[in-house]
Amino acid sequence: MLVKKLVPVVMAAAMAFAGAEAMAARQTFVTIGTGGITGVYYPTGGAIAKIISAKKDVYNIRASVESTGGSKFNINAIASGDLDFGIAQADTQFLAYNGKGPWEKAPVKKLRAVFALAPEAVTFVVAEDSGIKSVMDVKGKTINLGDPGSGNRVNALDIFKTVGIVPGKDFRDEKLKPADAPRVLQDGRIDGFFYTVGHPNGNIKESTAGKRKTRIVPITKEIEPLLKSAPYYSMVNIDMAQYPDAANAGEKVSTLGMLATLVTSADVPEDVVYAITKEVFENLDAFKKLHPALANLTPQSMLDGLTAPIHPGAMKYYKEKGLK
Ligand code: GLU
Repeated sequence: MLVKKLVPVVMAAAMAFAGAEAMAARQTFVTIGTGGITGVYYPTGGAIAKIISAKKDVYNIRASVESTGGSKFNINAIASGDLDFGIAQADTQFLAYNGKGPWEKAPVKKLRAVFALAPEAVTFVVAEDSGIKSVMDVKGKTINLGDPGSGNRVNALDIFKTVGIVPGKDFRDEKLKPADAPRVLQDGRIDGFFYTVGHPNGNIKESTAGKRKTRIVPITKEIEPLLKSAPYYSMVNIDMAQYPDAANAGEKVSTLGMLATLVTSADVPEDVVYAITKEVFENLDAFKKLHPALANLTPQSMLDGLTAPIHPGAMKYYKEKGLK
C-alpha cells in the first residue's frame, strides 16, 4: 500500500526535477564583447542585451555585455570561443576574415557577420598647445594610439604606415585605454590621442570640455593611397557642433570612417543569432533611442559593411523579410 502511494509521489517529483532541468538546459547565456566604458560599443552592446533579455520568456536567452579593449580583442575572443558576440569595426572584420593586417598569420575563418551598427570616425584629438594640425605634425610628440586590443590602434598604425611615420621612433606611442585618455590629455601627459568611435560620445565630450583647449584634426589628403587600397574605409565628417567646447567647434572635420558591426562565430547556434537579429530589427525605434550615435540606423544601413559571411541565423531573418 505504502509502496503504491509512494510511487506516484516519487515519479511526480522526478518529473518535476527533469522538467526544471530541461528548462535550465534550454537557457542560453550569451556574452557580447564591446569596448571601453566611455565609447559607443559599450552602451550599444547594452542596448542589444536589453532588447533580447526583455524576451527571455520567449527565447530563454540571457545576454550580458563585457567591457573590452575593442574590435581586435573581440574578434580574437570570438575566435577562441571566449565570447559569443562582439562589436567590431567593419575594417577589422574584413582583415580578420581575410587574414590580413594583424590577422596575417591567423585568419579567423569562423567569423560571421550579423548586422552593421553606427558609423565610426577615426578621431584624432589633440591639445591646441601641441601645435598639431595634421598627422604629419606628430614627430617628437607623445600620442596615445590606444589599447592593444582596439580598432583605433589598427587604424592609427595603418595611417602612420601610409605617411611613412614610425610610431615609437618618430613619436612616443602610448597604449592607454580610451576611458583614461581624456584625463591624461587634460593633465598634459600626452599631446593627443586616436579613438575610432561613433559620434556624439562622452569620451570626446570630456576631452573637449576641459581647461586645456583641444581640437579634432582632419585626416584627408595624407591617406588617399589608403582609401584606394582599402575598400572598407570611406571618408566621413565629424560635425563639431556636437562638441561646442572644442577649439574648432564650428567645423566639419573630414576623416577616415567605417561602420561598426556585430559579429559572431559560426559555432553560435542559428536560433540564437536569429532571435537577436529579429528582436533588434523589430524593435529598431526603441533600439535607436538607446544611444544618440544609433539615431540614423535603418534596416538597409544595417546590411552594409558585412564582409565576413553572414551568419545563417541572421540570413534566415533577412530572407524572411526580403532584405536579402
Ligand atoms: N572602435 C573602437 C575599437 O574598436 C571602439 C569604439 C567604442 O567602444 O565605441 O576599439
